[in-house]
Amino acid sequence: MTHAQLVVLGGGPGGYAAAFLAADEGLDVVLVESEGRLGGTCLLRGCIPSKALLHVARVISEVDELRADWGVEYSAPKIEIDKVRARKDKVITTLSAGLGQLAKRRNVRMIQAKGVLEDSTTLRLEGSDPSIPEGGKVTFDHLILATGSVPAMPAVFDLGSDRIMDSTGALRLQDVPPRLLVIGGGYIGLEMGTVYAHLGSQVSVVELTAGLLPGADRDLVRPLHKRLNGLFGDRIYLETKVGSLGLQGNEVEVAFEGPAKYGVERYDRVLVSVGRRPVSRGIGLENTLVQVDERGFVACDRNQRTADPHILAIGDVAGEPMLAHKASHEAKVAVEVVLGKPAEFDKLAIPAVVFTDPEIAWAGLTEDQAKREGRAVEIATYPWAASGRAQALGRVEGLTKWLVDPETERVLGCGMVGPGAGELIAEAVLAIEMGCEVRDISEAVHPHPTLSETLMNAGEVFFGTATEIYKPRR
Ligand SMILES: Cc1cc2nc3c(=O)[nH]c(=O)nc-3n(C[C@H](O)[C@H](O)[C@H](O)COP(=O)(O)OP(=O)(O)OC[C@H]3O[C@@H](n4cnc5c(N)ncnc54)[C@H](O)[C@@H]3O)c2cc1C
Repeated sequence: MTHAQLVVLGGGPGGYAAAFLAADEGLDVVLVESEGRLGGTCLLRGCIPSKALLHVARVISEVDELRADWGVEYSAPKIEIDKVRARKDKVITTLSAGLGQLAKRRNVRMIQAKGVLEDSTTLRLEGSDPSIPEGGKVTFDHLILATGSVPAMPAVFDLGSDRIMDSTGALRLQDVPPRLLVIGGGYIGLEMGTVYAHLGSQVSVVELTAGLLPGADRDLVRPLHKRLNGLFGDRIYLETKVGSLGLQGNEVEVAFEGPAKYGVERYDRVLVSVGRRPVSRGIGLENTLVQVDERGFVACDRNQRTADPHILAIGDVAGEPMLAHKASHEAKVAVEVVLGKPAEFDKLAIPAVVFTDPEIAWAGLTEDQAKREGRAVEIATYPWAASGRAQALGRVEGLTKWLVDPETERVLGCGMVGPGAGELIAEAVLAIEMGCEVRDISEAVHPHPTLSETLMNAGEVFFGTATEIYKPRR
């Protein structure tokens, strides 16, 4: 029977990062992935294809702005959807092939199969790929579980028609539907809604709670909501429930129940983006000591250890936040723990980015969290209207805010909204992890004119010394 020191189950950003590092450290590694290529949700049907399409959306939107505000004339864009789809697919293929090469060069043994745990040290390999060794099993000293997550599709919406899509279906980009309804105002729904709206769909969004992006700071969401209202033609229905979906020929009939929208409406396609569920069922965890919580997440400690001494868990299956960079950092911790090193996942700031236009990004402590935990914080906010660069771009709706510990003046959290916020937040992550005081940021020379200055300027606001805005000195 095949044996490995380490088996990694799942080839997404958690799984391949773990397998590659473990091989670099000299372990004998088997990576089991049910799909024919590496990359997982993030590369094949998540982060990367959505950002490739958002790039197209952003350029279209910037050209629209030139036409509307700057007196520059272009004719209206002509979208060849087959070419857009092919370009997006090429990005995926290039990156996935690169991962395959890297696995080979590191001597990671790749097996294409569905892995099911028979006990704490044996994985059964289901499938018919020639990479499956004779006997159809692999035994191991340690296994890192990195099976990720899949879109949640409530049974009431699941009518077995491709007119009702999850995020994977929406990223396939079969066509540009004249009328698209997005169910769920979370980041995936808003990113995909943005893409389809710029490609030419009339997009509507329905959200059960009182605001878009539940859980995100309202100061950051407000400018985005305003701009999306423009893009979606005021068709954002909050505090509204979709009672039922029904197929009527080539249309989907949707019954709404709520103050923002009541009654029946028809759409060409519906995107259901109401969350994701961890892949912890059907993989034999009941044959091990691994514990799963009521939402299906595998319980693990700060060392990524589960209740089974042979099994560690990382990435989406190991809990929130379900983000690729969390998965790959947990992968490093898990491998170091397998190697007997004293590692643990103790990050102060895991950044979150919503890649809409404007982008929203935050890291570290949020205002809501500070309130919940009864922590005193001082908040210093810099409006982008005061930034020369934001004015030059014609994008003044943004803001940057720091959450500062009033005693130590250390930065505890940061939130931003505005074009490029997703790139800018990296400085805040470093500052929070390094335990910077707000003065470190306000006194570091930032290049002018850039949006990165708003991080420095928000620091100056804390001391009442920002040149471009007046706030009495502390
Ligand atoms: C539309 C969309 C956009 C996103 N955008 C972002 C973003 O911008 N930034 C960000 O950080 N995150 C984003 N995410 C989330 C991100 O994709 C996930 O957090 C990330 O992929 C999780 O990595 P993972 O390794 O835990 O699992 P996954 O990437 O889900 O990989 C799990 C892998 O395990 C395999 N597998 C599962 N069960 C088995 C089994 N029994 N046997 C063999 N193989 C198995 C699956 O085939 C899959 O390849 C997005 C997600 C979606 C859907």
